[in-house]
Amino acid sequence: MTPSEIPELAALFWSATSVIVLTGAGISTESGIPDFRSPGGLYESIDPMEYLSIEALEEHPKRFWRYFIDAFASTTQAEPNAGHKALAALEHAGWINGIITQNIDGLHSKAGSRQVYEVHGHLRTVHCYKSGHTHPLSLAVEQMNAGALPHCPACGAALRPDVVLFGDAMPAAFQKALAAADEADLTLVVGSSLMVTPANYLALDAHQLAIINRDPTIYDARADVVIHSNAGNALTALAEELLQPDA
Ligand code: NAD
Repeated sequence: MTPSEIPELAALFWSATSVIVLTGAGISTESGIPDFRSPGGLYESIDPMEYLSIEALEEHPKRFWRYFIDAFASTTQAEPNAGHKALAALEHAGWINGIITQNIDGLHSKAGSRQVYEVHGHLRTVHCYKSGHTHPLSLAVEQMNAGALPHCPACGAALRPDVVLFGDAMPAAFQKALAAADEADLTLVVGSSLMVTPANYLALDAHQLAIINRDPTIYDARADVVIHSNAGNALTALAEELLQPDA
């Protein structure tokens, strides 16, 4: 991060009337949750598309649930980091209008952000394929630990997570996110490789685009400001810049 980058980003905020932030797994690595594509990320051990697809859940439910629980259940214990907190503070002060997150970890809400569009779902609940009833994720974890496939206590039908799997349609939150993004004149992407479709269309369609990411992304060339940095440092510096008493 060079000394001029945060003031340049802050200047985009000053000239914008509506700001949307799009976050990815990279904003949560500082909370101890691995992302997909960094060294040590989940892609290093397996291909998530093979394990986290609707096909995998239906054809290999035991393998699916074991992987899903091992990879994600513990993230419900994670705490928000400086990056999540800075975004919440910026929303409270009126600098950002909402956060569209690809993350399923719930850390933006835990940090105090109010307008969060969870376009890939969340880890709070699972639901029954047959009745649609929802249950806490902890029920599926308990059933797996007891040697049973996750099933609905009411009707016995299979359960599925309330996250978007490869092969699923996008949830209603995505349509709302598209509308919010359309109204924004600045989109700030934080911690995303922007490789996942269709969430990355939000960056492609942005009026003005800023990116904070540790590594280069495929949209760096079309962005108005790019900051290659850890999200926690950059967002803390941005919040300090915008939340100064005379700002
Ligand atoms: P990705 O793994 O494709 O990309 C993450 C990007 O974040 C990388 O380019 C990396 O350079 C950057 N990064 C890592 N740590 C960073 C940090 N501390 N500060 C700044 N940048 C950092 O992630 P994606 O684009 O979000 O796509 C992966 C998909 O997997 C998404 O759907 C995502 O929701 C899901 N996923 C979610 C979680 C979670 O909920 N925390 C974790 C893993 C994967």
